[in-house]
Amino acid sequence: MKLFTFILLFSTALQAQSPWQESQRETLEFAVPEGFRKLQLQLIVDEESDWAHVALLQKTLAKSSRILSRCRVGISQALVRKVRFSAEVIHALNNQDPYKGPSEVLLMGADLEATRPVGFLMDLKRPSTAAAFNRTSIRRLSTTLSQVHVLAESFHITSDYRTNQRFPGALAGYDTFTHELAHLLGDLGHIPVRGNLMTSLDGRGAKGPGLTPEQCAAILTSPHLN
Ligand SMILES: [Zn+2]
Repeated sequence: MKLFTFILLFSTALQAQSPWQESQRETLEFAVPEGFRKLQLQLIVDEESDWAHVALLQKTLAKSSRILSRCRVGISQALVRKVRFSAEVIHALNNQDPYKGPSEVLLMGADLEATRPVGFLMDLKRPSTAAAFNRTSIRRLSTTLSQVHVLAESFHITSDYRTNQRFPGALAGYDTFTHELAHLLGDLGHIPVRGNLMTSLDGRGAKGPGLTPEQCAAILTSPHLN
């Protein structure tokens, strides 16, 4: 009886450590024009979300490369890992505790590969979000929360942001996935420029695919570009 209890506790502890179960992984490769800097991504994709349809994901990545081509950057490779997130992680993401800091910390365990940026693409089994943890936001959060640095170079997007449905006035070339990625690559914040990818403005025509020379210069300083 004692032994049984021990084994049961042990296996529960093991399960609690793993934020997901991986069902499939594949590497998508893309041609990048001569002279462009290359970007590799790791994407942890909820297997039940729209993001898990590889054709849709390829469309997103192609659009992202189209936007980043203004800075002569292209996505060359994406490691796509389809997973089922554990009930504990989903519960934590749905019950954020401001005293403990972002529950997303639970996703940043030993199961991750080294490649950064890493994107977590989920559906609405967690609260709607489109967020990126870049150097500046980590610095800001670190003053109060010790564990938060593990979130560096990660971004988190739910499937309602896969298209521009959340931004009715956005230009067709705008893309939330790329917006979050640019937060990370260039350690960028928002600017009040119409038609810009990182605009702080809302309304018709405000959100677009534009990137200024200054934003491109910042993006090109990313240590993640080859
Ligand atoms: Zn933003």
